[in-house]
Amino acid sequence: AGLKSAGIFDPMCGIVGYVGKRPARELLLAGLGKLEYRGCDSAGISVIAGDRIDAVRAVGNLSALHAKFDESAATAEAVGGSVAVATAKEDIARSSELATTGIGHTRWATHGRVSEQNAHPHFDSAGRVHVVVNGIVENYVTLKEGLTGDGSVFTSETDAEVIAHLIAHFYEGDLAAAVRAAYAQLEGHYAFVAMCLDEPEVLVGARKECPLIVGRGEGEQFVASAVPAFLAETRQVQYVENGEIVILRPDGVTITDAHGAVVERGVELVDWDEETAEKGGYETFMLKEIHEQADAVAEAISDRTARGDGVDLDEQGAFDESILVGVKRIVIVACGTSYHAGLIGRYAIEEWARVPVEMDIASEYRYRNPVVGPGDLVVGISQSGETADTLAAMKLARERGASVLAITNVMGSQATREADGVLFTRAGLEIGVAATKTFMCQVAVVYLLGLRLAEL
Ligand code: GLU
Repeated sequence: AGLKSAGIFDPMCGIVGYVGKRPARELLLAGLGKLEYRGCDSAGISVIAGDRIDAVRAVGNLSALHAKFDESAATAEAVGGSVAVATAKEDIARSSELATTGIGHTRWATHGRVSEQNAHPHFDSAGRVHVVVNGIVENYVTLKEGLTGDGSVFTSETDAEVIAHLIAHFYEGDLAAAVRAAYAQLEGHYAFVAMCLDEPEVLVGARKECPLIVGRGEGEQFVASAVPAFLAETRQVQYVENGEIVILRPDGVTITDAHGAVVERGVELVDWDEETAEKGGYETFMLKEIHEQADAVAEAISDRTARGDGVDLDEQGAFDESILVGVKRIVIVACGTSYHAGLIGRYAIEEWARVPVEMDIASEYRYRNPVVGPGDLVVGISQSGETADTLAAMKLARERGASVLAITNVMGSQATREADGVLFTRAGLEIGVAATKTFMCQVAVVYLLGLRLAEL
């Protein structure tokens, strides 16, 4: 509990920000490197370079992002023919490299596929406000509709992008004020850091449930979702508490409550070594992940129960509830821990929805000649989404005309391609080999499925 209230608890991916006098890009890349172990399906960095903000994003792990920077440096050098063009390109690459304010992100997708467009930073239509976001904005659909009506042009499928447009919508020359106004509209659990071209030496962060920590330096400041991101640069930290907003400038940091009243916060010294810091102060990743179970489950059920009067499993591009209509029988296929999540889920589904549920170990199922076909819903549960036996069982069922639903923790995994619908468990990356939080989230998601079937 002590660790959690200190704000170092974090089931999600990574955000990092820097404002100071040194080139930001290298520091941001180094910081993201320290957060990569949390899971990273895409990554990106934005820096304020003179009269523009440069965003570079890439799908894959951080090496893909590094490669992009190397590539653009090489192009700048290689542009021949027109000396003027070459010089202009070099200038742009150079100003970006030297920029001293920036934000970076490693994404573990929850809403919207893994793609470059969906990678963070996200920005408003004019490209003046950039943000990096951890967590989930639950009411993004409503906000997006309103903002689109007001002329905002969205370029991603994420929930996170609304934050950039919302801040831009409220912006009247004071980024902190605009963030406060935006924050008041946002529901969910998230942390974000924003910057604006009009205030090149300011970063503003805000948090609700997800962590945000400030690293204090001399004439420079860091902010990140976890301490390891800046541990190589400073050990002086300030914890931003839930519901607070933080304003960073090279020469100082101000923390306020959601209404702008200044909050005093002491500076603490972290004495962890790098390894302890990666484990959030816990002895092992498994212990850390056990402590993350409550938050992981909150993540799994959050917006699916946000309406308050029922369960909503629809998710653009991932799940369309029509596959649940008219289901006569459910067959759950899985292996190992996932199989056990199914065993528990079966009780719930049968109890609530009165639909018969059969359980099968995927490796047995695929090697017999199962009776399965139209009217059946076959649910494949796999943490990684790559369990070969489960994938084969799902494929077999699909060939025989059953509807297939995947429950997995990994966006973009093979299971998501073998299924008619996908429910993501949203547990964040699990490093411990024995399943803990991913198991809890599988059970939670099967429960949601049972509840929704009961409603239908
Ligand atoms: N919900 C956001 C997205 O899917 C952020 C996910 C994360 O924390 O990486 O883009």
